[in-house]
Amino acid sequence: MSMSMATSNHTIFLHNATNLTNTTNHFPITTTRTATTTFKPISIKCTATTRTQAPPQASTQSQDRVFNFAAGPATLPENVLLKAQSELYNWRGSGMSVMEMSHRGKEFLSIIQKAESDLRTLLNIPSEYSVLFLQGGATTQFAAIPLNLCTPQDTVDYIVTGSWSDKAFKEAQKYCKPKVIWSGKSEKYTKIPSFSGLNQSTEARYLHICGNETIHGVEFKDYPTPQNGVLVADMSSNFCSKPVDVSRFGLIYAGAQKNVGPSGVTIVIIRKDLIGNAQGLTPVMLDYKIHDENNSLYNTPPCYGIYMCGLVFEDLVEQGGLKEVEKKNKKKAEILYNAIDDSKGFFRCPVDKSVRSLMNVPFTLEKAELEVEFIKEAAKEKMVQLKGHRSVGGMRASIYNAMPLAGVEKLVAFMKDFQARHA
Ligand code: PMP
Repeated sequence: MSMSMATSNHTIFLHNATNLTNTTNHFPITTTRTATTTFKPISIKCTATTRTQAPPQASTQSQDRVFNFAAGPATLPENVLLKAQSELYNWRGSGMSVMEMSHRGKEFLSIIQKAESDLRTLLNIPSEYSVLFLQGGATTQFAAIPLNLCTPQDTVDYIVTGSWSDKAFKEAQKYCKPKVIWSGKSEKYTKIPSFSGLNQSTEARYLHICGNETIHGVEFKDYPTPQNGVLVADMSSNFCSKPVDVSRFGLIYAGAQKNVGPSGVTIVIIRKDLIGNAQGLTPVMLDYKIHDENNSLYNTPPCYGIYMCGLVFEDLVEQGGLKEVEKKNKKKAEILYNAIDDSKGFFRCPVDKSVRSLMNVPFTLEKAELEVEFIKEAAKEKMVQLKGHRSVGGMRASIYNAMPLAGVEKLVAFMKDFQARHA
């Protein structure tokens, strides 16, 4: 990607531009004006006062990098990393990095607004939903959700399809009366229930699911309709991996560090009428109303992480949106699952075929004693982080949006070779 392609339109407004000189233009700043601002838009050209970094070429960069199959923090798109690198020292002629900017300055406001706008485009988020950029990880949302959506006496329903929905359920026990209406534990979390047989509570304020269980590799392919209340989904590990009809949900939340950015940013998409009813003891940082009223700027937000998410969103839009992204993800997952299923039992994936995750592929070796060797040899071939979660063992290949097809093809070729040598 050329660097001219790497810059995108951002508008910066300056109070007083009289001291600026028009010289070399490294990072053009456009002159678009918004109706609400009182600042005078001007066209400026900036020269960095210190040396700017020459961005490395993508081709040389990829030779240095590994294929990282980690579950999160996880691999990020290479072009996004290179763009961030090129902008690190001096963001678009502002004379500072994003890390050094005031979160209330015009520059950062343009960053967070563009991130939100691109996310709205990607997921086609209706206007009656708010988008919040928060901190504390998805784990904090396990508490924030019951605190904001119900009273201590309220019943809520949880479908437990793996470790993450189990953790969400357990945290909710402190703030309301959650009920597990289905659990896949006895089948080692390899299934998603049929929706027709669900015994939902008539009074439930919400029905909580984990859209994709990162550890167990089970993914909802469709969504249940709550009998009462709203549907709430933890989409941490399949966020922006495919189109989602947001209007079916009251709330969607996701830690960014799998598909859309670095750790430190948690995204909440919430229907506006659900905001404003937090329990009295809710800490200010967990109250959606506070964050909504302040456009995620009540306190200092994770600015750099939001900037990185914005670059990822922009990249996903440029790829053609989530339909295109899903096509790529399906292809990668198909290649990997086929390799496992065609191995005559040498590799196994325990998950029910109809609900296998497109993002996290857990698998074991028939000869379990070879697993250490498998992981070691793969690492030598620059394929890392293939060890399964400590709670389940085996292997796990996380193949998020940013994992290139070449990474999956290389892994599959390695698996075949390993089998030929060890079968
Ligand atoms: N939910 C899911 C599905 C996850 O995969 C994770 C993290 N791996 C979490 C919740 C917890 O996220 P965090 O570490 O951001 O709190």
